[in-house]
Amino acid sequence: MNAIMSGAPPRAAPAVSDLRPEAAGLPESGIVRVVNHGRGRQGLIPLWVGEGALPTPSFIRDEAVRSLAAGETFYTHQRGVPETREAITRYMTRHYGGAGSTGFAPDRFFVAAGGMHALQMALRMVLGPGDQAIIPTPAWPNFKGATLALGAEPVEVALDYAPSGWRLDFDRLAAAVTPRTRALLVNTPANPTGWTASFDDLRGLLALARRHGLWIVADEIYGRFVHEGERAPSFHDIADPDDRVMWIQTLSKNWAMTGLRVGWLEAPPAFGQTIENLVQYSTSGVPTPNQRAAAAALDHGEDFIAFQRARCAAARAILCEGLSRAGGFDFAPPPGAFYLFLRPHGVADCAATAIELVDYAGVGLAPGSAFGPGGDGFLRLCYARPAEEIEEAVRRLIAWSKAR
Ligand code: PMP
Repeated sequence: MNAIMSGAPPRAAPAVSDLRPEAAGLPESGIVRVVNHGRGRQGLIPLWVGEGALPTPSFIRDEAVRSLAAGETFYTHQRGVPETREAITRYMTRHYGGAGSTGFAPDRFFVAAGGMHALQMALRMVLGPGDQAIIPTPAWPNFKGATLALGAEPVEVALDYAPSGWRLDFDRLAAAVTPRTRALLVNTPANPTGWTASFDDLRGLLALARRHGLWIVADEIYGRFVHEGERAPSFHDIADPDDRVMWIQTLSKNWAMTGLRVGWLEAPPAFGQTIENLVQYSTSGVPTPNQRAAAAALDHGEDFIAFQRARCAAARAILCEGLSRAGGFDFAPPPGAFYLFLRPHGVADCAATAIELVDYAGVGLAPGSAFGPGGDGFLRLCYARPAEEIEEAVRRLIAWSKAR
């Protein structure tokens, strides 16, 4: 029977143009293109993605194994298993519960499938079609992608580069606010620049949000990776319970757990049922074994963080000293996170340069253009790696730069 006889519309092969524009229009990650180009290359030093070379420590993995062996394979609590939420509360109280803190209770914390899922739920609660979210850039591309996926509009505001450090221009930020602005996405310490908000920066951002009734979505996942001090300044240090702030957190970086997909959203307890519903209608919960592993990391993971911080400090010193001695590269020594955002002199197209570096230097870096306005000409290098590897990467970068 043909289409006319059946009364059904004529069929054509499914095309992307059949899809909702919010999905079909999502940009491909500019990092993935370089990774695809260099994947499997012999001898390449891969510093392009945001993770270290170490697997999850065994004391954390063992908890997941124990849980699996015990048959914890059922549907679980949408907000997270109670023991994990209690471990999050203890961790937050230890590290963020200083003077002035309003205290923490488990009803503020919602376990998510990584920081990305926490971000997606936070944005889902405050952004819809026609709304705008302000994103200081260069930024992790997922802030823009997650905003676009909701049919909302990212408004990117570039930070200024200076050799002494990236700077947020508050006049530019304030000028970007419109009647449609709903949220301010603040990532501190920042991927990829390492920009780390000072207390004054945080106060300025909070004042702007209060003035316009905006939500601050605070991504403080690199808060423990700081060059000086025990942790970075946090909105926890200055916000009142009535402020419109939600926090994104993850186990991914602190405890080398990127593949286990555990993070959390911190939000006003009044949103509990709404967040529970969002979990139900997206992932329906994070696997219990992974949540058990997370609880072990939070309760017993300080030595591993200290190890990672020391490794990052050594790598940062090798990079900053080596590259500034050689010359030919602009960069601001990063106060936080574990990325060096560097600009080789004379680069016209950093995406092409990233490919060139794979082919001729054997170093995999992410092109700065993937991180939005302000990133052009730069390359991101993740230095959460062993010193020997970073030393070799510096040698290769310098040789490449001198041969050009
Ligand atoms: N925020 C920032 C700034 C990140 O760089 C990342 C990971 N690259 C995340 C959140 C999310 O991490 P995950 O989803 O692995 O927990």
